[in-house]
Amino acid sequence: MRELSSDKASAQSEDAPSITPTKSNDVTDKLDVKSLTKGELLAYCAEHGWPRFRADQLFQWLYQKGVHEFEDMTNLPKKMREYLQENAFINRITPSLEQQSKDGTIKFLFQLNDRQENDKIEAVLIPDFYPDGAANRLTVCVSSQVGCVFACRFCATGKMGFFRNLSHGEIVDQVQYINEVAMEKYGKKITNIVYMGMGEPLHNYTAITQSASIISDPLSIELSPKRITVSTVGLTKQIKKLADEEQPFNLAISLHAAIDDKRDKIMPINSSMNLVQLKQAVQYYYQATERTITYEYLLFDEFNDSIEDADALACIVGWAPSKVNIIMYNNVAGVALHRAREDRLDYFMNRLSKHKIQATVRRSRGDDIDAGCGQLAIREGTPRGKSIA
Ligand code: SF4
Repeated sequence: MRELSSDKASAQSEDAPSITPTKSNDVTDKLDVKSLTKGELLAYCAEHGWPRFRADQLFQWLYQKGVHEFEDMTNLPKKMREYLQENAFINRITPSLEQQSKDGTIKFLFQLNDRQENDKIEAVLIPDFYPDGAANRLTVCVSSQVGCVFACRFCATGKMGFFRNLSHGEIVDQVQYINEVAMEKYGKKITNIVYMGMGEPLHNYTAITQSASIISDPLSIELSPKRITVSTVGLTKQIKKLADEEQPFNLAISLHAAIDDKRDKIMPINSSMNLVQLKQAVQYYYQATERTITYEYLLFDEFNDSIEDADALACIVGWAPSKVNIIMYNNVAGVALHRAREDRLDYFMNRLSKHKIQATVRRSRGDDIDAGCGQLAIREGTPRGKSIA
């Protein structure tokens, strides 16, 4: 683990404006340009008489080159830079802690500009390597909220409660910073993004869809939407909305139990949106998009790892092409659920295979660095926010 008191981190910290990540702040009332979508940035430039290509240049400086000062945007006219300097600012998050696991996983703790007690979020870089040791997939797991309202029993973030949504700019910032780390460390840009960090992504629908759209823009990191996955505990209305809006990225369902009684016990959301309703929403999504759905299933010792559980899981996922990730749980302090035993994992996988379910075991990454979401932020000490349970 290292505190980021390096030049890079401290320079960013000094430069960062002491303001809230909104369009105005209590000190200067300046506009946060990163709170604008690409369309809004275009409109803002048009309002000021700057042609469209200037908006594109500004967007590119913000999201591709990662510049933090208007004066460094050298291809913008001096007058435009001066105007922006006086009337706008570039809000950003500041890396404050970095932990690297022996398996290569790196966890980042970021400080937001809230000046609140609960102003930390986490993101993780998960590298996969070729046999020769070169980096293959570089997946970033990003946070979408500070804390989370849904209180899943196995989740460290769920213990925090909910404090606030992240803006799309704050979500893109996590990706941009980690992309820079990937370039420095592995000489290549990130290859995949999963919205599976702190928070329930579909509970912050607008920011996550806007951030995914920015990340896949050719003037930004330009990551294909096919490489972006949004996970949800099962917000049925928003799953249907993704389909209706033809959002181009992938959907993953955090299922974790396929029997209502058991899911009720570990995921309070299931009491109001049960497995039948969830399946209906996913069917609606599949009919509209024909995209393979991914299901995430944390395997807990003697809780959801029986033959009966495997049969129930096959029923829930087997009606259409799907991918099932059986995840070996990173134990969390104070949580009574534990990682399943290897022999029970084998029985479970064999049973799924009999049902012809395509399932992959995902070994936990970064056990030695508390890589489970929320573990770092919680350890840093936060009081409890809002929660549904
Ligand atoms: S698992 Fe996801 S939805 Fe559940 S409490 Fe944790 S962050 Fe929230």
